[in-house]
Amino acid sequence: MDEPEFLFELRVCRWAERAWPPTGERDAVVVARQLGVRNRRWDTIVLECDSEALDARAVFGEERLDSDLLHVVRNAPGSWAWYRDALPDPGYPWRYVREAVHRAAERGLVETREGTNGRIELRRTYRYPDWVERVVAVENKPDLDASAARALADQLERDVALGLADEVWVATRATGADVEPALYERLPVEAGILAVGESSVDVAWHATSLDTDAPGTRILERPEGADHDRSAARFEYAGPDWKADKRLEIAERAYERGWRSFVDTMRPDCRHFEIRDPDVPLPYCTAKGRHVTSGECRHACPEFSPEPPAWRSKGWPLDGGPGRAIQRLLDDQRARRR
Ligand code: SF4
Repeated sequence: MDEPEFLFELRVCRWAERAWPPTGERDAVVVARQLGVRNRRWDTIVLECDSEALDARAVFGEERLDSDLLHVVRNAPGSWAWYRDALPDPGYPWRYVREAVHRAAERGLVETREGTNGRIELRRTYRYPDWVERVVAVENKPDLDASAARALADQLERDVALGLADEVWVATRATGADVEPALYERLPVEAGILAVGESSVDVAWHATSLDTDAPGTRILERPEGADHDRSAARFEYAGPDWKADKRLEIAERAYERGWRSFVDTMRPDCRHFEIRDPDVPLPYCTAKGRHVTSGECRHACPEFSPEPPAWRSKGWPLDGGPGRAIQRLLDDQRARRR
């Protein structure tokens, strides 16, 4: 049976963490999966980062900064000022900004005090660094047949028109068959193609860098393309500021989650759950005798069997049984990659 897309995706994430970019100089990267905007979710996200700035980002903690916190933290002044004087008009009621200032203070991201007339004043604790250099989106499609290529082409054309990511790629299983180039031709030329083999990943087509600083176009609706279809496409404009904000929000979510968070929705507390190779942590089920997807290994799994209590006391004396140990291992790996 072919490897499911979920496991293929984890392999691509692991490869990207080790080997991105496929050509050129490597600095630091952060890899995550299943993130995006509105109704567009990318399978794999690779953030190319400045390593020093990435270290500086770490002082803000492992948790992401949402858009409201980013507004506060990025604009907090070096010396005490009333928050309404210090922060740019957000375009929404100031009371939400005040709440965000309090949340930021609770997390130690800024300092606050009560100034004259009870006004909330703030000043920054650390300067928020410019840690994300490029955002790369990868769509994983292990089995690229004609209908998958057609659906992908539509999605990728939308990605290219919007220009939210610096590059878009498709990762597909290398088959070596003659059919590959014909399917590749259906994809937009700007999209790169990675051919993923058992032991290596090759670039079958290089991606073109997209202009993320320019206004983008969101394609809302397009004609089906049938002979008698005369309906017009509908577009929406996406300004550079919106794009910059969204890129940073995606990056913050990627920073928090990484790609190993897949285990959070699985059952590592099941006695059949294993991670056989910590280096390429694919979930394995001893009951099924194979790797499993997050769709199979969940609360509703009929074969779920809890870890025996003895496992939690014998040989796993400190913090729970093997399931907890697996989670700790993945959490540690995630923290090290930041
Ligand atoms: S038996 Fe079900 S819950 Fe347990 S590891 Fe296998 S798939 Fe996951």
